[in-house]
Amino acid sequence: MRRTRLFLPTLKDVPSEAQIVSHRLMLRAGMVQQASAGIYSWLPLGFRVLKKIEQVVREEQDRAGAQEVLMPTVQSADLWRRSGRYDDYGPEMLRIRDRHDRDMLYGPTNEEQITEIFATHIRSYRDLPKMLYHIQWKFRDEVRPRFGVMRGREFLMKDNYSFDLDFESARLSYDKMFVSYLRTFARLGLKAVPMEAESGPIGGNLSHEFLILADTGESSVWCDRDCVEFDMLARAVDYESPDAVRAVVEEFTRPYARTDEKHDEAVFEAEVPPERRYVGRGIEVGHIFYFGAKYSEPLGARVTTANGEEVPVHMGSYGVGVSRLAGAVIEASHDEQGIVWPESVAPYGVGIVNLRQGDAHCDSACDDLYARLAHREPLYDDRPERAGVKFADMDLIGLPWQVIVGPRGLDKGSVELKCRATGEREEISLESALARLA
Ligand code: ATP
Ligand code: MG
Repeated sequence: MRRTRLFLPTLKDVPSEAQIVSHRLMLRAGMVQQASAGIYSWLPLGFRVLKKIEQVVREEQDRAGAQEVLMPTVQSADLWRRSGRYDDYGPEMLRIRDRHDRDMLYGPTNEEQITEIFATHIRSYRDLPKMLYHIQWKFRDEVRPRFGVMRGREFLMKDNYSFDLDFESARLSYDKMFVSYLRTFARLGLKAVPMEAESGPIGGNLSHEFLILADTGESSVWCDRDCVEFDMLARAVDYESPDAVRAVVEEFTRPYARTDEKHDEAVFEAEVPPERRYVGRGIEVGHIFYFGAKYSEPLGARVTTANGEEVPVHMGSYGVGVSRLAGAVIEASHDEQGIVWPESVAPYGVGIVNLRQGDAHCDSACDDLYARLAHREPLYDDRPERAGVKFADMDLIGLPWQVIVGPRGLDKGSVELKCRATGEREEISLESALARLA
């Protein structure tokens, strides 16, 4: 993309309404624009990041054996009356009435809808297990929408639902999602710590929230530093082997890690030596949850077992805040100059900075780079602007690499390759720059 064609409304001034760094940077980098409280439009740069996050989430869901579907945002109130949640949900639910006076709602989540789809088609244990997910907008009329896309009212979520014959099998589905989440967040360049969460009336400890550690997080966290030092991408996981999957989960749940809901100071002090204690704040980016027959029972999602018995299926649900992650990644990865995107979600892979637009030599070198870097999704700053303006903008939008092309370098046959994360600049030949970015 050429910068002169791109719709990228960057802001020079720090917007006063934004309280946290990710929100400020998303507005300054022209990623999003508020439409009304907690509701955002995604502009080209932000939209590209959102789609990349979505794609990483999708690939890791598929890898773990889940199948993608797409359910509507608008749901019928009757379905929610059958599960008993229509009255329980409260003012967070956006309730709508259609022209025939039927009660509808804008989905805050999809347990009822997916359970109904399952119940319509699946009757036998032979068709289990199943994991179905979608990536869809949700609406929750939050009391205090804030921090930009991190706590919005309309937000994009990946929600997966598992269906199993018995607890043992449901636990395996849960474990697969646990591992899939570790992989997903690691690929997004994040250290997300799984923390035991409140599992509601069903009991057991089959509920984990995944939090990334950040001072601006809304949750208090207490954890063992060991939790943060794992390298998930370094290990291969065979989803076909229940033992291998279980082993990863056990390893990651061993160190102490809890939010305020479940924190126990005495246990924390007994289990974690002072030098390994982390006490701080975290941002919830995912939540996994086993809830047995809570929805399958009232909504009639039952299957016949091998002995001909009819039983409600065991279910779990697994959410990732896709739009929240755009903010969370920035909270975890930025500096004074702006955003520092991990390669996996960067809106463009490399920026080309032409220091003297209009100079034949510079222009032709940049055109050459632009064509030959097509596989890295280059953004070419071809504006007739001062070098300082271009540098500041490139650093603000945080592409992982910059190739800086100026007349003096070109006379010696060189360009500069800058790594955004380290700030290191290297003078090398144009060919070596291309080779390094191959
Ligand atoms: P929270 O405690 O932050 O309100 P929740 O417990 O309501 O989250 P879930 O219902 O488990 O969240 O939703 C799954 C994921 O969706 C969360 O882990 C979070 O990443 C994301 N999410 C939830 N609410 C919002 C919101 N208002 N804005 C953006 N993302 C959200
Ligand atoms: Mg909530």
